[in-house]
Amino acid sequence: MAGRTGERLQERTKGRDVRTSNIVAAKAVANAVRTSLGPRGMDKLLQLENGEILISNDGATILSKMKVIHPAAKMLVDLSQSQDIEAGDGTTTVVVLAGALLNACSALLAKGIHPMAIAGSFLRAADKAVEFLQEISKPVQLGDRDSLLSAVETCLSSKVVAQNSDLLAPIAVDSVLGIVDDIDTSTFVDLNDIRLVTQMGGTVDDTELIKGLVLTKGATKTAGGPTSMKNAKIALIQYCLSAPKTDMDNSVVVSDYAAMDRILREERKYILEQCKSIKKSGANVLLIQKSILRDAYNELSLHFLAKMGILVVTDVDRGDIEFICRTLGCQPVAHADQMTPDKLGEAESVTDVLMEGGSAKVVKFTGVKNPGKTTTVLLRGSNEFVLGEAERSLHDAQCVVRSFVKKRFMIAGGGAAETEASLRLHKYSQQLTGMDAYCFQAFADALEVIPYTLAENAGMKPIEVVTELRKQHAEGIKGAGINVKKGMVSDMYELNIVQPLLVSTSAIQLATETVSMMMKIDDLVVVAHN
Ligand code: ADP
Ligand code: MG
Repeated sequence: MAGRTGERLQERTKGRDVRTSNIVAAKAVANAVRTSLGPRGMDKLLQLENGEILISNDGATILSKMKVIHPAAKMLVDLSQSQDIEAGDGTTTVVVLAGALLNACSALLAKGIHPMAIAGSFLRAADKAVEFLQEISKPVQLGDRDSLLSAVETCLSSKVVAQNSDLLAPIAVDSVLGIVDDIDTSTFVDLNDIRLVTQMGGTVDDTELIKGLVLTKGATKTAGGPTSMKNAKIALIQYCLSAPKTDMDNSVVVSDYAAMDRILREERKYILEQCKSIKKSGANVLLIQKSILRDAYNELSLHFLAKMGILVVTDVDRGDIEFICRTLGCQPVAHADQMTPDKLGEAESVTDVLMEGGSAKVVKFTGVKNPGKTTTVLLRGSNEFVLGEAERSLHDAQCVVRSFVKKRFMIAGGGAAETEASLRLHKYSQQLTGMDAYCFQAFADALEVIPYTLAENAGMKPIEVVTELRKQHAEGIKGAGINVKKGMVSDMYELNIVQPLLVSTSAIQLATETVSMMMKIDDLVVVAHN
């Protein structure tokens, strides 16, 4: 009997050790991104394995590049990825929140509360918190452009490119609204329908939203063909405009001059026929898909096409074909025999433009006749760090708009919503008895990590600020939050610092799920073989 008790005791100790080690590892990850929360948060300089560097303020980006070994720490990395997929923004928030919840867990475990009880209570507390957030949220219509702009500006205010938010916010809003099927009823939008084209040179302020298409490769000029076209009729071909090759690596030995001459003539005739069929279809702009089997074009075909006055863009990526077709309303042609006028797309103008401040050329398609529900954003930046972060930030901003498409509610930012939810949870916990009451209170306190950290990062005194926030919320000022610019507590609704409800609710739910999952773990098993 004694042996048995001993065994059980040993088991318990092991469970506790594993749990503690998990908590410590995960908290280390949370602490690493903590300082980048909010508009006054710091940016991180990341050095990648290949020696390249990256500057970012986005939790998901920082964590995804971090070399994390401990499995529990990896769970937090995954957590921020889940938030990135679900809401797109709030990726730092979710990790900071998980860190605070883990802290709460440590305290509760020390009190002797069973981990399963904590896990259960936290999940229920999260549901309540989400309910409270829903109660205090304000409905917003997608037609209400000003509200959307405010939310997008809140999102951008914590980015490296915050000073460009005047320009980027409307671009984010318009690009997403441009692809929404029905502004009143749609609850889904696929951001893949927005093409972000990045071009180095100029500044972020030169970024533009293009109703149409931009291809990053300029028109082919070697053969002297046109570089701009009005009333364009666009064909997209997937076959090759070059002499056919044998299936295998054969060589044909030609010994006699006449035979060689014949081969060249045949080749010339073959290519000419192909080019003629394109011309016959009425096309004056030709996009050629990149081919890996053989040359998709050669000098001869480019020469013929130039003579026929056709603008040519070569090396179109296979992955872009679908987007291009939907945007221009054309159909890809897989064989020369199928080249018919109905496959063509039409645009008022196709021009080859030199990017200001850069050496790259792009081809712009504007005034598309039957435009699909797609948009293109041409992002500019003076160097690759700015450009990369601008791209990620714009994506986050678009995710904010997407969050509104999914759920048309918004709440106050700057820690206001979290404080209000915390206050209501505290009140609610008074009705509860036993462990639940304890756990709900600890959960409510953990939510305050958001205003606490925002204040800390803004150089304010966190304890004073959080106390002031609690007081104002208790007095009924639901929008009271942290005004980082002035270093005081103000009404966030008046300052238009708002954010999608989905970002906050998803952060609370996902963080709690991960923390509960961690509580339920009592052993770490290393699997030798898969
Ligand atoms: P995340 O990756 O979680 O989105 P951010 O660094 O973007 O992290 O910070 C988001 C937090 O900053 C949110 O709680 C938001 O309410 C707050 N916030 C954003 N802009 C402001 C602002 N102008 N004033 C106060 N708080 C802000
Ligand atoms: Mg953000």
